Amino acid sequence: MRLAEDLQVKGKRVLVRSDLNVPLENGRITDDGRIRASLPLIRSLAEQGAMVIVAAHLGRPKGEPDPKYSLAPVGRRLEELLGRPVRLARDVVGPDARSSVADLREGGVVLLENVRFEAAETSKDDAERGAFADKLAALADVYVDDAFGAVHRKHASVYDIAQRLEHAAGPLVAAEVEVLHRLEVDTDRPYVVVLGGSKVSDKIQVIEALLPKVDALLVGGGMCFTFLKAQGHDVGSSLLEAEMLEQCVTLLESGKIVLPVDVVAAAAFSADAEHAVVDADKIPEDRMGLDIGPRSVELFTEALQGARTVFWNGPMGVFELAPYAEGTRGVAEAVASLKGALTVVGGGDSAAAVRALGIGEDRFTHISTGGGASLEHLEGKTLPGLQVLEA
Ligand code: ADP
Ligand code: MG
Repeated sequence: MRLAEDLQVKGKRVLVRSDLNVPLENGRITDDGRIRASLPLIRSLAEQGAMVIVAAHLGRPKGEPDPKYSLAPVGRRLEELLGRPVRLARDVVGPDARSSVADLREGGVVLLENVRFEAAETSKDDAERGAFADKLAALADVYVDDAFGAVHRKHASVYDIAQRLEHAAGPLVAAEVEVLHRLEVDTDRPYVVVLGGSKVSDKIQVIEALLPKVDALLVGGGMCFTFLKAQGHDVGSSLLEAEMLEQCVTLLESGKIVLPVDVVAAAAFSADAEHAVVDADKIPEDRMGLDIGPRSVELFTEALQGARTVFWNGPMGVFELAPYAEGTRGVAEAVASLKGALTVVGGGDSAAAVRALGIGEDRFTHISTGGGASLEHLEGKTLPGLQVLEA
C-alpha cells in the first residue's frame, strides 16, 4: 500500500476520504474524536501546499439531501480545530462543489457535503456507483483514504474512486492495518482475546477465525449466557440465542474458552432494578445477567497476566447503566495495566466504554476507530476499500 506521506502533493487537488461520522444531538457534536483523529492528514496535506477536498458521510440519510445530516456542524468544528478556513460545499459533486474546488488555492480546504446525500454512493449497482465516482474523481488529481471505519464498504467514495485516481492510504488506515496484521500473523504469545457485547451471532465469525490462533478466549457480555446455557446451566431471563447453542457447544470443545463464574443478576433491564451477584451456574429463573461479577473479573484478570498480545472487543456488561459497569471497568483496567503487551481495543461501544469509564485511552496500544471494519478484517474477509488501495 502506498502511503500519503510518499506522495508529491504540492499544487495538486487531493481528495481525502475521512471518517467524520460523529454523534450529534440536536445539531451539536457530542464527541469530536473522529474529527480530531482526522486532523493530522488534512493539516499535513495543507501545509505541503495541496488543495484539500474532504469527503465524508454522516449518519444514514436516504440518498438525498437532508438538513438533519448536513456536515455543516462538522465543517465548523474542523475549521476550529484545524485553525484554517474550511469551506463547506452545499452539494457533493454539484455546481457548488465544483466552484468551491475551482476557487481553492494551495493550502486551502473544502469539505464536500455528506456523500450519502447521493444515492449512488452506496448503490449496489456498479455502473451507478461508477458514474458518481467519475464525478468525484473529476474534482481531484489524487485520492487518499483515511477512513478506516468505511473500508469494509463497497461505496463510491471508498472503493470506485481509488480505481480512478492515483491513490494512497492515510495514516489512520495505515495504522489500523498494521495493528490488525499483528493480531493475525505471527502474533506474540500468549495471545488472549476478550469478547463481550450483546450477541454471539454478531461475533461468531470472528470467534471462529481467532480461536485457532489464541491461547485463551475470555467471554463476557450478553453473549456469555448462550455459552453458559451450552454448558447446561440455566440462565434465567438473560440474553439467549437458542439457535447458536450447537455452535457454542462445538466452540467450547476447544478448551480455550473461559466463561464467567459469577454474574450480576437483575430483576429487570434497568439501573434501579433489584440486583445481586450470583454464581454463573445458579442464575434464578426470573433474573437476567447484566454484568460479570467480581470473581469473574479476578479470573479474567488472572488469565490476562503475562499476555503479550490482547484484543478486546465488546463490553462485559450493560456498562451504560452504572450498576452493571464494574465488570467492564475491571477488565478494561486489567488490560490497560499490562506491561509490555500489545493491547488493542476494537468496537464502537468498547471504545465508548473506555472513554465513559475514564480508563485513559493512552493506556492501550491502540483503540480501533472502525469497529465493523476491524472485525471483518479479523474474520479474514477481503475489505473492498483496502483491496483497491493495494492495487
Ligand atoms: P462493540 O460496539 O464494542 O463491538 P457490541 O455492539 O457488540 O460492542 O455490544 C455493546 C452492547 O452490549 C452494549 O450496549 C451493552 O449494553 C450490551 N451488553 C453487554 N452485556 C450485556 C448483557 N449482559 N445483556 C444485554 N446487553 C449487554
Ligand atoms: Mg456496537
